[in-house]
Amino acid sequence: MIESTTTLNEAQSSVWDVVVVGAGPAGSVAALEIARRGLRVLLADRSTFPRHKLCGGCLNGDALATLRDLGLENALNQLHGEPLHQLSLHAGRRRLNLKLPSGLAVTRSRLDEMLIMAAIDAGASFLSGISLKLEPALPDDAVRVLSTQRGNTTERILARLVVVATGLPIGNATTDAGLDVVSTNNSRIGAGTTTSSFPPEYTVGTIFMAIGQNGYVGLTRTDNGTLNIAAALDSKAVRKAKPEGVVEDVLKEAGFPFTSEMFSGEWRGTVGLTRCRQVPAATRVLVVGDAGGYVEPFTGDGMAGAIRSGRAVVPFVERAVLEWSPQMIRDWKFEFQKLMKPGHRRCRILAGVLRYPTIVRGLIGIVSVMPSVGDAVIRQLNREDCHEMLNPRPGHSGAA
Ligand SMILES: Cc1cc2nc3c(=O)[nH]c(=O)nc-3n(C[C@H](O)[C@H](O)[C@H](O)COP(=O)(O)OP(=O)(O)OC[C@H]3O[C@@H](n4cnc5c(N)ncnc54)[C@H](O)[C@@H]3O)c2cc1C
Repeated sequence: MIESTTTLNEAQSSVWDVVVVGAGPAGSVAALEIARRGLRVLLADRSTFPRHKLCGGCLNGDALATLRDLGLENALNQLHGEPLHQLSLHAGRRRLNLKLPSGLAVTRSRLDEMLIMAAIDAGASFLSGISLKLEPALPDDAVRVLSTQRGNTTERILARLVVVATGLPIGNATTDAGLDVVSTNNSRIGAGTTTSSFPPEYTVGTIFMAIGQNGYVGLTRTDNGTLNIAAALDSKAVRKAKPEGVVEDVLKEAGFPFTSEMFSGEWRGTVGLTRCRQVPAATRVLVVGDAGGYVEPFTGDGMAGAIRSGRAVVPFVERAVLEWSPQMIRDWKFEFQKLMKPGHRRCRILAGVLRYPTIVRGLIGIVSVMPSVGDAVIRQLNREDCHEMLNPRPGHSGAA
């Protein structure tokens, strides 16, 4: 368990340079880098850690490269994740195995703990078990106010800048117009569980992906010998048959082996997966990770985008703490979209295609006879090339 390094009383006693709300990958990476720049930063989360977060736990090449750049290679090795070598796609009787150039399957709760510890070691203060709400901004305020309820009392924490890293946006928890959430009708919902009882066919190092009429299911072995089952499912089908029922149907359609024990654990779900904010910033507020917008999980872009944006926000944070200007809303919007749009576009295209198993079967047929097409797609999904482009090594230009 990770203990808080400060108390709510202490956190209220002064104005923070930065409060980061949400200690998933986006928030922890932001807090880590902000602390390294010598700013006073509080990282706060409503959960206590370790906490469960529904996730396939697959870090793609882009995520791994950014974590290494942040100096976290040793900490990453200590997670003892399972290197990923292969993606095995099944749609009906069509099957396709694609080589993965990189990737690591980790236990998500351990990754989150590792990142929070790195932020604390760098000097960030950490406060868990506190749900924070953004109070309305006043035009001439030099700070933003965050509030939390303790019994009947409303407690307040003040910050020159707030980084919102609260994950998939559920509703408009703020009155800042720019931060309004737009969600897509008929978007799929996330569901998943972990199990230690599963057929031996689910071997280490492969992402098994079953595609069916009512959704798709990813199955991956993680570091502690468990099988992580994570799915994006049609919400109407889930209302009729519960997530485990829909997952069982998708596995059957794809011809995947399963046992009843695989479905007997606790299942967790999410709200509709496709949603975004009008603008990922407001007065003295910058939004990172899923909180800024999210499509559907398939490509490993989720954590990669969270980590990338948590890191990229830091120069904006430094500027904003020194002197806030409304121009920063536009600047961060531009930067955030530059970072996230390619991933969101890919996810949207894939999510669209995956709704039609017949098209997927056709595509599998094409890639089976033209393997170079499959390799190109996997390179795109892993995006180490994108990491290079956004973080060119000294002496290299990003352009070819
Ligand atoms: C079914 C499924 C499978 C997935 N599989 C993968 C995968 O294999 N690979 C991949 O890269 N991505 C995957 N993703 C996506 C990935 O999980 C997310 O993109 C990633 O967690 C985003 O990180 P984040 O830091 O933005 O938000 P989160 O990880 O969601 O963290 C947000 C944090 O904010 C806290 N919080 C929220 N509100 C408040 C509040 N008001 N006050 C204080 N704290 C608050 C929460 O407790 C949470 O800890 C998957 C997602 C789903 C649903």
